[in-house]
Order: sequence, then structure tokens, then C-alpha cells
Amino acid sequence: MTNNIIIEGRFINSDEEFFGQIEIDRKTGIILKKQNYIGNPTFIFPKDKLIFAGFGDIHIHAREDETERQMYKEEYATVNQAALNGGVIHVSCMPNTPSPLTTQAQLDWHKERCRQFPTLIFHYVGVGKQTRPLDVNVPYKVFTGPSVGDLFFKNEAEVRSALQHYKGKSVSFHVEDYDVLQANNINRTHQERRPVACVETALAYVLQIIEDYDLEAKLCHWSTGGKSIEMIKAHRARGYNTTLEVSPLNLFFDADMLAETPERWPFVQMNPTIQGREHRVQLLEGLRSGFIQYLATDHAPHTIDEKLKQFEPEKESDMTREQFYTHLRITNLEECRRRACLDSTSGTPQLDTYGPFTTWLMQAQRFTPQDIARVAAENPGNFVNQFHNGPGKFGKIEKGYYGSLTVIDPTTPMTITREMLRTKAGWSPFEGITFPGSVYATIVKGQMYRRG
Ligand SMILES: [Zn+2]
Repeated sequence: MTNNIIIEGRFINSDEEFFGQIEIDRKTGIILKKQNYIGNPTFIFPKDKLIFAGFGDIHIHAREDETERQMYKEEYATVNQAALNGGVIHVSCMPNTPSPLTTQAQLDWHKERCRQFPTLIFHYVGVGKQTRPLDVNVPYKVFTGPSVGDLFFKNEAEVRSALQHYKGKSVSFHVEDYDVLQANNINRTHQERRPVACVETALAYVLQIIEDYDLEAKLCHWSTGGKSIEMIKAHRARGYNTTLEVSPLNLFFDADMLAETPERWPFVQMNPTIQGREHRVQLLEGLRSGFIQYLATDHAPHTIDEKLKQFEPEKESDMTREQFYTHLRITNLEECRRRACLDSTSGTPQLDTYGPFTTWLMQAQRFTPQDIARVAAENPGNFVNQFHNGPGKFGKIEKGYYGSLTVIDPTTPMTITREMLRTKAGWSPFEGITFPGSVYATIVKGQMYRRG
């Protein structure tokens, strides 16, 4: 008889699938064994449920910091809840909080705040004009153009002068060119204000910088196909393994869809922007083929009020912005659409929907369960394994890895509503959309945290 946790079901890794049992050490939460039969199971999952190594979202914005200025829209406690709800057991937070995370002291502060949660919360450290690498091994983040927050550069020379100190480090890039953004900022829609050229122009010098400083690079939330894909292929052919993330938003929505319904722009505005259908199709193909490594949401928990900032009602009205938006949509669609196309707050909350979204990839986009294991569990796990100092590893169902699991029910559809969300932001760009499956359970180090 063992005192450990035994889980039985259909386990999926990127290179195999097996039906059997795993044993998880009750004290350390680490997988000890994987075989056909070990003993009386603690949890049994039916054969039609898919058990993955716990999903990891390596690009989120958590908003909590010592200023507490943005904790009205998210904090680590609600990140933890939203993650577990979405089947995500580790997240990596971007450093552009109100007080950008750039020093060891700040990193220690954030780590301390996150220690209490079952979700493992990792942090990127920001690169600014005056920053230097820390003594510990961490991933860094560079914003080549303005997005959300003040941590950004305005041109190649500035990026270069900062990154010359980071040779050989792990650096993730937000790739958009400041000058191209400025030149287009009077255009009608978010897509036209942030054209493909904005990504391609910055990409040309970002790839050169990666090569010059030999960086372990990752390009964040990729949004374009076409020329950018050719540029990245040529760069890899020169011997660099620069990796790519893509967000569910860029895989599910495209700007062509919004040509018919421009009133939806505020709910899908993010940076870089969603582009035309041909780009979306190439992103899906890129994720399936392995050209893109990570499904990462860019979870950005702005409130609905912030997303609808162009819908400020008349002073004497007691309507909220959202009520005013709805009112205009019904009574004056043209005006609603005009305002919806104006610039608003970029970013969307997506942690709660990470797991359900993977079922759409499987059912509607021909991803195999092994593909999902690769882009949602194994690759994100390998990314954080480089920086994690704990006793176990993330990303596979294997001896020595954490017994953290995401159990997906691929055939019980789920319609996204506000009531089911745990993010403090309280809304989702996928509201009203029915995904073909759902999260059945989230297990962290052998402990059940969510059961659908
Ligand atoms: Zn981001």
C-alpha cells in the first residue's frame, strides 16, 4: 500500500499516448512512476478525457505590484484562480506593471507575493535604457515600440544600446516599430494604425540584434504571416533557434471578420493587432507544424470600462460605458461603429479560456492531442524549466516531472459567459462563443484544484 497519489486515465505527451496509471509523491508532488497498473487509484478519469501535463501560459500580464495602482483589475490571487479555471498550472508575467519590474529587489518582492499560490507564477524582468542583467538566471522582456506602459524604446539604436549588455541572455521581444506606428496613427481602424509593415520593419532590426548579441530569443504574440515568416525562416537557417508565441485571439479572430461588424473592435483590440484572414490561416498552420512553439495568451486584464473608453456617456446620463455602447449599437449603429474603430485600450483577458480554446484547435483546426501537448504543455514547460529552481520539471507526464495535470473533456461544449470567469477583469473576448470542449479538472502536484 502506498500513501502516494495514483491517477488513472488516458495520458497524452507530445510523442506518445498511454492508458494506465501514474504515482505522484504526496510530499514533493513529483511523478515517481508511470505504468499500466500501480495500485488503487486516488482519481480515475474516463477514457474519453485527455490528461495532459499541466498547461503553461508563458505570456500574461498580472498587474499587481508595490504601487497597487492596477490591482483593481487583477492581482496574483485572481491570476491564480483564472489560471486554474482555464487548466493552466504555470504562468509567466510580463514586467510592464505601473512600477516596471527591472531589479532583483522587485523580483524578490513579486516572488514572495506569489509563493502562496498553487499556480506557479514566474516573472520576466524588463529591459530599459539604464538596466543591466541580474545575477540570477531569468527571462528578459524588451518592448521595441509603445504598447501598454512606459517600458519601451523608440528606435533600433536605443534597443541596441540597451541589449549590448545582455549578450547570450534569454530575451523576449515585443516587435513593433515606433516610427511606423507614428506614421499611421490617424488611420481608421486598429489594424490600419498598426499595419503589417510595423511588425516587419521592427523584425528586420530585431533579428539582426539577436544575431549580433547571440540572444536566446523569443518573439511575442506573433500576428503576421507572409514576409515575416520568410524573414524568420532565413534567420533560423543562419543557425538561431529564435522561438515564437501566438495568442488564441490571433488564431480565432481576424480583421476581415470585423469588416462586417466593426462595432466589435474594442473587444479584440490588442498589440500587435489582429491582421487579415490570410495571416490568421498562416498562424494556425505555423502552430500546428511546429514553426510556432507556444500557445501563449498575452492575458491582459483591462476592465470593460477601459476597453470602451470611446463610449463615455453624456454627463447627465447615469449609464455605464458598456450600457452606452449597447444603447448606441441599437439606436445608432453608425455612431457606435465610428467610436468602436477609434483607438482604445489594447489587450484582452484570456487565462480562463486557455483550456477550452485548445478543444477548438483539436475539433475545428485538426490539431492532434499530441500537438496540444507540444504547444500548451511541453514547450511552455521547457521554457520555464530553464529558470525554475524547484525539485521537479514542467511539461511532460514522466518520472521526475511535477504531477500537475490538465484534464480536458474534448466533447462537452462550453459557452463562455462572464459568470464562469475568475479573472478580476470580469469579461472575455470569447463571450457568447461555444468551444467544443472544456476543462474537466486541474491538478497541481497531485492535488485537485478544479473539477468541471
Ligand atoms: Zn503582452
